[in-house]
Amino acid sequence: MKLLLLSIMFLGMSFTHASEGNGSTGGGPIYGDQLNPWFIQNTKNVNYCVEIAPEFSQLPRGRVLELIKNSFSFWKKTFSGFPNFIPVEISPTPVMLSQEFIFKENCSDTIDIVFQMGFLTPAQELSYPNYKQIIGKVGRTHYDEQNLKGRGFIYIAPEEGRFRPSSPNFISRPWSSGKNLKLQMALMHELGHVFGLQDDYYGTYGLMNARFVDMITHKKSPKALENNIQELATSLGCNTHFDGSSHHSFRRFTLPPIEVEEEKNGGDDINEILNLPDQFTLDIKSKNKIMTIRMNNKLFGTIKLNHSSFNSAENGGAIHLFLTKKQKVFNKVPAWAYESNFPFFQIFKSVVRKDEVLKLNNNEEIKVFINYNQFCKPSIGSVYKGKLYLDIFTGI
Ligand SMILES: [Zn+2]
Repeated sequence: MKLLLLSIMFLGMSFTHASEGNGSTGGGPIYGDQLNPWFIQNTKNVNYCVEIAPEFSQLPRGRVLELIKNSFSFWKKTFSGFPNFIPVEISPTPVMLSQEFIFKENCSDTIDIVFQMGFLTPAQELSYPNYKQIIGKVGRTHYDEQNLKGRGFIYIAPEEGRFRPSSPNFISRPWSSGKNLKLQMALMHELGHVFGLQDDYYGTYGLMNARFVDMITHKKSPKALENNIQELATSLGCNTHFDGSSHHSFRRFTLPPIEVEEEKNGGDDINEILNLPDQFTLDIKSKNKIMTIRMNNKLFGTIKLNHSSFNSAENGGAIHLFLTKKQKVFNKVPAWAYESNFPFFQIFKSVVRKDEVLKLNNNEEIKVFINYNQFCKPSIGSVYKGKLYLDIFTGI
């Protein structure tokens, strides 16, 4: 619910500047290796350096370095907990984020990632004449087709000076204020591009959303966003880890149900069976194939999670690899996979578990489907007596 409300708020906002990645969503040979992650398992060490312009923020250098380090740890942790679906018979299996990220005090030519905090070089400035509209930018400057290794920079715009974004909606001190979570999240987003994740143009929310950096630095950015860093952490989409619990706080909508079939039984409303109060909290816990639903701290019903095959509402590759015959990293690659941008980190952004049965406390049974959003948060819907309820608890 919190997510829904935030999404609605964002839809009503307008954004004037872009944070760009190293490509766009989709794939196909036209992108070539542009969408590749900069590093794969043959790269053992990645060197990075950090240059900070005085206009960047009020933060001490040590704090900026710490936030950068946290961002690497975040992605390491995220990838380590995520099963890798590889639809291609390729050997060895591609592995993400296996490298060590090593901080170097000096930015020499051999550095793999240069963090440019608050400034662009004169050459970059010419390449990005719209720099006053850029908050974050990842630029790949070199790619080694043999070793599948990239090199480049991450730029984060400053709070002051001539590189400060010109939008009146840009917060005065997005990086220095509070616990610096906005800078943390902006760094996480941009680093996501280095690891081959593209901007997500479909979801309204989430770390890799194309508007993410705009949103968090916008004057109307909801405060709640800062507290939701844990939820944003599941940015690769929902996957097979459905065990867990979630807390929801509802104020019911009163939208009429969607008619999907002709009414057969006089058109009872599902709400007569559910008998929900106008406002309530819901705790949904899944463990050992049982989903337990508690309303206002009292048992409301249970669902035996029988159906383990999922219909993916939106699936696809999170990360793509474009290989040419020059590559020396994989020794077994099917011929078709060359020059083809195949996805090697397949994800499910949202999934539906169909044909489950919700058994209410009073022993009534309702056929339901469970929809997991990209954060793996479940919502429970139903087709009941010819009417479709997307979420029986919110009433939409
Ligand atoms: Zn982006």
